[in-house]
Amino acid sequence: MAEVLLTADRTLMSNYHHNEFLGFGTCAPPNFVPEWLYSYLFFPQLKTINGKPWTAPYGLRKTEAQLIKEGFKVETVSPTHIGKALKNAKVLGIYAMDPFGLGPASTTLAFIFKKEPYLARHFQALLQNPAIKKARQRGLKIIVGGPGAWQFKYRENAVSNLHIDCIVEGEGENVVGKLFKAAIEGQELPQHYEVGIGEVPSIEEIPDIVQPSINGLIEIGRGCCRGCQFCNVTTRPLRWYPIEKVERELNVNLDSGKVSGICLHSEDVMLYGSRNTIPHEDKLVELHERVMKKVDDISWSHCSLAAVSSAPKLFARLSETILQKQAWWGAEVGIETGSSEVAKKIMPAKAHPFKADDWHDVVVNGMGLMHDNKMVPACTLIVGLPEEREEDVIQTMDLVADLKEMRSLIVPLFFVPLGKLKNENWFAETKLNNLHKQLLIQCAEHDFRWVDNLLDWSFSGKWYSYIMKDFYKGFSAIAKHKVRQIE
Ligand code: SF4
Repeated sequence: MAEVLLTADRTLMSNYHHNEFLGFGTCAPPNFVPEWLYSYLFFPQLKTINGKPWTAPYGLRKTEAQLIKEGFKVETVSPTHIGKALKNAKVLGIYAMDPFGLGPASTTLAFIFKKEPYLARHFQALLQNPAIKKARQRGLKIIVGGPGAWQFKYRENAVSNLHIDCIVEGEGENVVGKLFKAAIEGQELPQHYEVGIGEVPSIEEIPDIVQPSINGLIEIGRGCCRGCQFCNVTTRPLRWYPIEKVERELNVNLDSGKVSGICLHSEDVMLYGSRNTIPHEDKLVELHERVMKKVDDISWSHCSLAAVSSAPKLFARLSETILQKQAWWGAEVGIETGSSEVAKKIMPAKAHPFKADDWHDVVVNGMGLMHDNKMVPACTLIVGLPEEREEDVIQTMDLVADLKEMRSLIVPLFFVPLGKLKNENWFAETKLNNLHKQLLIQCAEHDFRWVDNLLDWSFSGKWYSYIMKDFYKGFSAIAKHKVRQIE
């Protein structure tokens, strides 16, 4: 029996119907759709075998792999089957993405609906599970880590209220072993462990996953060279996985028989293998050709408009390779602002190799290339950046208007103080002025314009497509009606 159990709340233990865009639904609070139906539509539960999920979040799989490498007896379990598994466990590791709904998407939706988002509710519900409470009384230790660990700094009481023994913030490969060992041996644990610069793992120190990840997501690199001031990623060094490592993890997923596609994950897939902001053509082409021979479909986690704009022919070539097997592919893309002044101040390298002054044109050009090559971007805008002026918001609105004909989703997010701006104020609801409201409505209208088209693409060719598509279209129609009422 395992001495270490790993899990995550049920909003993270989902494949989102194999459509990562639907995962955004976990950031919303309970709303006009009944909870059981909403959960099924946006975060259906993963299938399990003996309480173990078929697949699990990639970050959890990395921790699992590291602990196995260090000789621990580890099991990853579904949150809905945790009771039995806890019997002999000494430590429970929980993966957290947005535990208190403080991430940009959740804070924005929480403001609109005035309620706590699903992902925060489910994270806290997991820790209040009676089986976990009981196991804690007999000595179970709880360690929480993941991309949302920073949020505990803003919820200091939560660590004791939720009876968590240790929070791990940062890339954990070089530290989880000693922390889990200390927990098993009943030693005192630090309440908040921040991974130091010297503890960040090199590529050689990052283990390959040993079990399949949700939707076949695998990392191809860590870090980013653009240095935007509002971003946490800038604090980590840039490292790219060699193609052999990517392939090994791909094989783990494919050999499991539980996934047939891949989501390439990095802060900018277009810069795979590059040491600067110019795409490395040979490496990108090789990566895609090798991967596409093996998988049924592909998506990218993130890519930058500047890299796409700087290499239109290369982007078209990658698109040609990808579209041999599918009608479109998606990625998250950061626009953040339409103001060149703001761009120059807080993200001067985001447009590189172009000038920050030309950010508007870089965005329009990049989005046009994505539209023509059938990549669908889910774009983010930041509302309420420090020192934002009215003219900055107006320039962002002009940019959104110029993107009207480009197939995309545009999601406005309230500023959250992270990265070099971590000491700035949160964007409070009271600061939302009329221009901001107009921008929010403009983005909603842009999304409604494209959402039916995207649903048709997302569900084409699947047996359940008609039923599912109609559900989402119904949801979208009600949401559109509600937005129009607000307008
Ligand atoms: S480009 Fe993206 S990942 Fe890189 S620093 Fe800017 S916001 Fe962060």
